[in-house]
Amino acid sequence: MGNRRISRIRRQQSGIVSLVAVLMLSMAGGCSQSNQNQGTAAQQSPQAQEAASTPTVQQGKTKVVTTFLPIYLFTKAVAGNVADVEILVPPGTEVHEYQATPENVKAIATANVLVKNGLGLEEFLEDTVKNAQNSKLVEIDASKGIKPLNQISPVEKTGKNEEDNDHEHAQGNPHVWLDPVLAKQQVTNIRDGLIAADPANKATYQTNAAAYIKELENLNSEFQQTLQKTPSCTFVTFHDAFPYLAKRYNLKQVAVVEIPEDQLSPTDVQNAVNAVKKYKVKALFSEPGVDNKLLTSLSKDLKLSLRTLDSLETGQTDPQHYFQAMKTNLQTLETACK
Ligand SMILES: [Zn+2]
Repeated sequence: MGNRRISRIRRQQSGIVSLVAVLMLSMAGGCSQSNQNQGTAAQQSPQAQEAASTPTVQQGKTKVVTTFLPIYLFTKAVAGNVADVEILVPPGTEVHEYQATPENVKAIATANVLVKNGLGLEEFLEDTVKNAQNSKLVEIDASKGIKPLNQISPVEKTGKNEEDNDHEHAQGNPHVWLDPVLAKQQVTNIRDGLIAADPANKATYQTNAAAYIKELENLNSEFQQTLQKTPSCTFVTFHDAFPYLAKRYNLKQVAVVEIPEDQLSPTDVQNAVNAVKKYKVKALFSEPGVDNKLLTSLSKDLKLSLRTLDSLETGQTDPQHYFQAMKTNLQTLETACK
């Protein structure tokens, strides 16, 4: 798994012109008006929930297929036990370059609802849905209404790969689930989509979504309170996954150091060292499961500790995993930014 993830990281970085590009984040305003239509938390009587769920149980549960882990977690949290929720990209498999299987086509062919992250993340999906030929399939785009951040601005060019840097983020950066406030909007979109597809269980979807959204709000408060002590903390990542999180909490993501295929050249190392000095970088972040000697030696050269920040593209399938992983990320950021 480590190698595959590194190869994906390389692939992502290979399209980026600069050795180091910097995202200097404007701190004014949010990256989207994410709280619109948050609605009121559902206050349904137990009778209403029971009445709503009974007919669906009798005619078989709604089958919901989700694409990858964060979207599975959010959907499972909203659906609870009234719908069957499946995942197409098994945790531990790379979503950015995922190749669909015949089982995925079958799963979509027999599903009522498909939930995706959107913003161009699930490149495999379009053909897979076509092949499934399910004319009744309801698709939910969890990022509907979220304004994506665009490509980061390169500041130190190496002069290679200038032509092909638009592919990965053609629709903006897709990693919106790593900002708890935008995650709230994703949960809201999923809730509304499930209600539209399966109105009989409306009350349950509303109640479950409200509980999860409450936890996301608490998580957001925790991030705010903790990270306001270290304003403008600057960090380097090797996977452009955290611009939304950085923008939300007044951090600066210096993204992204390109890791060459084989080994770092003295020039690569020097460029990275210069950029780290220039931007007063506090931390280098790799990911769980990535054990890369290049990153380790680079961190030694830069005299910065290499820590792990979880993009939640892999992990456990309990909806609570989102909060556990994000709280670990918060602790890591707090320690690194001190
Ligand atoms: Zn990613």
